[in-house]
Amino acid sequence: MEQGNQINNMGWNFDNTYKELPESFYSDMNLNPVRNPELVILNKPLAKELGLNVEGLEGKDGVEILAGNKKAEGGAYIAQAYAGHQFGHFTMLGDGRAILIGEQKIDTPINITGEDYKKFDIQLKGSGRTPYSRGGDGRAVLGPMLREYIISEAMYDLRIPTTRSLAVVKTGERVYREYVKEGAILTRVASSHLRFGTFEYAANYLGKEEVKKLADYAIDRHYPYVKNDENKYLSLLKEVIKAHAKLVSKWLCVGFIHGVMNTDNMTISGETIDYGPCAFMDTYDPETVFSSIDVHGRYAYKNQPNMASWNICRFAETLLPLINEDVDIAVDMAQKAIFEFSDLHFKYWIKQMRSKLGFFNEEPMDKAIIEDLLSMMEKYKEDYTNTFVSLTYRKNMNTGMFATAEFTNWHKNYQERLERQEESIEEAYELMKKSNPVVIPRNHRVEEALKAADNGDFKVMEKLLSILSNPYEYRKEMDEYTELAEKSDLPYRTYCGT
Ligand code: AMP
Ligand code: MG
Repeated sequence: MEQGNQINNMGWNFDNTYKELPESFYSDMNLNPVRNPELVILNKPLAKELGLNVEGLEGKDGVEILAGNKKAEGGAYIAQAYAGHQFGHFTMLGDGRAILIGEQKIDTPINITGEDYKKFDIQLKGSGRTPYSRGGDGRAVLGPMLREYIISEAMYDLRIPTTRSLAVVKTGERVYREYVKEGAILTRVASSHLRFGTFEYAANYLGKEEVKKLADYAIDRHYPYVKNDENKYLSLLKEVIKAHAKLVSKWLCVGFIHGVMNTDNMTISGETIDYGPCAFMDTYDPETVFSSIDVHGRYAYKNQPNMASWNICRFAETLLPLINEDVDIAVDMAQKAIFEFSDLHFKYWIKQMRSKLGFFNEEPMDKAIIEDLLSMMEKYKEDYTNTFVSLTYRKNMNTGMFATAEFTNWHKNYQERLERQEESIEEAYELMKKSNPVVIPRNHRVEEALKAADNGDFKVMEKLLSILSNPYEYRKEMDEYTELAEKSDLPYRTYCGT
């Protein structure tokens, strides 16, 4: 069924609540068609969960929609305005190369990004220039879009709240970066695209009434249960603090380094967003930084909790006038809430670390056992993921750190700790299996998949995706994906290289 350039046989069921906000929050967008769209990958299970018609999306009209050449019926087609602190400096930003198609409604709430929701933003990334593009071309490159697809889906399968990837299409156009690249568009799915930076935009460029409308909107979409609280804006802040304390603890537990934790890349929902220079740590080193532009290590692995807390301060500042009319009282209330961040983060972190080691109950010495293991891993340059895999499956425990007297000593202590709890050793190993991924998207594997894709071979990526899709369940075929990259003289570097 085609009406004008709007198509609907795909199951689109849009709600466009963002357009109910004041117009200064977004810009209406026309399409920026691309020359020769071609579907590279479609996330069929995700499409089905969203109530979308897989064959429809794979067909010509579907691909035209995913390429931004035609409009999905009932779509909003807007670019969102936002600001943000980038590496500490405040600036105006906005969707410079993205269009929000609309908010896909589902009848019963489902959990596809981290929490149960009935509505998911569908956004095209790389869809052309917008009023917020500044000097950019509004386009994206195939490699980085596939990288976002692989890593965001891996994060979801690791059970970490995240935006998802529905599809990648090649545009058939060239994109000019350092080299000439193939253009692509990623369809991103999120429980919303509200960012800390959206609030910073409202507070800095609009006014108190707009911040209030935005805060009410955010509460409605993400934390409706605080609506009747005595101070619902303080409650909103507390919920965001909790969500990020939890999120960052999950990042640390799998060795994920986001790489560009600017406030425009922090969601109100607590979903991981913006897969640019992110990567998973291999050798355990808390100072690890992969991003080529993060020269001072602001967003190093170990700094992530502190940076999340710094970002939350920027978010909290935007809410102050809503929290209390008296600014001193508001600051005091917000500060008390923010002080909770590190305790909350620690609580989430240690709970997961206990599970990673098979502890069901809590003992005062647990923190020391965990930290001793981590410092041994650092000292002997052990692989973070594989160390836990070794402990869980009791294999490959005769070289490196495992062959030292220090480890033998630690292990004896650890075994005694396991024996002291009520649950059996077998039950402890079961818990460890559920808590320690066998595979993560290792940097050399991701690079290998992207290189093949660049040469038109998508099989390597498909295999990688299938391996990563069930990381907590050991299968023989995973073995080669647990192997480390050959030693290189140069550290692994990632780029915003978008
Ligand atoms: P990011 O580093 O991806 O978080 O992007 C920071 C800002 O730059 C956001 O406002 C993006 O929309 C914008 N941006 C990134 N790449 C481009 C591009 N190729 N064209 C226009 N805007 C862009
Ligand atoms: Mg961004």
